[in-house]
Amino acid sequence: MDFRPTDEQEILRRTVREFAEAEMRPHVMEWDEAQHFPMELLPKLAQLGLMGIQFAENYGGSAMSSVDYCICIEELARVCPAIALSVAAHNGLCSSHINMFGTEEQKRRYLPRLTGGEVLGAWGLTEASAGSDAAGMRTTAARQGECWVINGSKNFITHGSIGGVMVVMAITDRTKGNRGISAFVVEHGAPGMSPGKKENKLGMRASDTSEVVFQDCRVPQAQMLGDEGQGFINTLQVLDAGRIGIAALSVGLAQGAYEAAKHYAKERRQFGQPIAAFQAIQWKLADAATTIEASRLLTYRAAYLKDAGKRMTRESAMAKLYSSEVAVRVAEDCVQIHGGYGFVKDYPAEKYFRDVKLLTIGEGTSEIQRLVIARQLLAQ
Ligand SMILES: Cc1cc2nc3c(=O)[nH]c(=O)nc-3n(C[C@H](O)[C@H](O)[C@H](O)COP(=O)(O)OP(=O)(O)OC[C@H]3O[C@@H](n4cnc5c(N)ncnc54)[C@H](O)[C@@H]3O)c2cc1C
Repeated sequence: MDFRPTDEQEILRRTVREFAEAEMRPHVMEWDEAQHFPMELLPKLAQLGLMGIQFAENYGGSAMSSVDYCICIEELARVCPAIALSVAAHNGLCSSHINMFGTEEQKRRYLPRLTGGEVLGAWGLTEASAGSDAAGMRTTAARQGECWVINGSKNFITHGSIGGVMVVMAITDRTKGNRGISAFVVEHGAPGMSPGKKENKLGMRASDTSEVVFQDCRVPQAQMLGDEGQGFINTLQVLDAGRIGIAALSVGLAQGAYEAAKHYAKERRQFGQPIAAFQAIQWKLADAATTIEASRLLTYRAAYLKDAGKRMTRESAMAKLYSSEVAVRVAEDCVQIHGGYGFVKDYPAEKYFRDVKLLTIGEGTSEIQRLVIARQLLAQ
């Protein structure tokens, strides 16, 4: 067992941190206020290898490990959780699904554009009436000759209105339950596919979240991703790995909030001394630092198992559950330590507090993570 990052990982962390501080920090509030995803950042993210972090070099990827992936997402989230969410959804959901289950031809067709930052990836599982119970979806794909015709709608889709490539799950055989769901790759602009309502969100506002509507959207058989009827089963594997990304995002967000709180506590004076001199504040900081470190270890362990090619359904759910709930507590304490200044937009505390709540909801709520963990425990 070795808890030390490699020299390359130290350099990676420093590089992504410097990028986030220089290119993102100055604009974070402006993007948040305008609910604007900065497309101009894509070539820069791609240049750093962050648009194809874990994919093979022959598809334009950076061939980094899952632990490296965590470091990248953490460092982006420390500065702007919304951009980290977009990068995680692009890498960990859409691109990852294509990489894991695509044919060689599909990978060659889509991955280089995704890893090169030419397009953003979107991934559509959730529907208005099917969230936690995703297999209860209504979107259908009906075979017509050599094509499939998709009808229905997906909601809460990250990059639903700005994504260039989308993986969408649809029912291809209603009689087979969750084994009757298949995945398809659909490109932006495909006739019959259109963005619906863009969500006006509490947090993560720079990350686009929109409905996507399919009306007689015809896709050739060649765009079916994975085997017919395996779409939902494959989705569960995509989510096992995707949750490691949300756990890393939680660690990074909590780290950013903790650093902001510590900095403020040393500067702010009350009763003739810095508030950091009060034990009540010290305990909050100590609890934050300790629980963030525990989150990081759980997250890296799940990533390590993925890198070792081992199953990590339980560990990724544990990392996501624990890290996201820690992040919520740390972000709340960050506001509390800032007092009234934690409630206004001149300081970063309120934004971490707004952004953080998504982490106990997206890619499976905390309740669903507990369900996944318990199922794994009881199966033994
Ligand atoms: C900003 C944002 C981005 C997103 N991006 C994407 C995306 O890119 N692609 C995508 O497909 N989806 C995406 N989602 C959807 C997200 O994954 C769902 O919101 C989430 O899975 C929860 O589904 P729901 O909102 O329908 O809540 P519901 O499933 O309706 O849950 C409501 C409440 O009931 C609880 N609950 C439900 N079932 C159970 C149960 N069996 N036991 C105990 N409690 C239960 C839940 O935990 C929750 O507290 C995104 C959501 C948001 C907000």
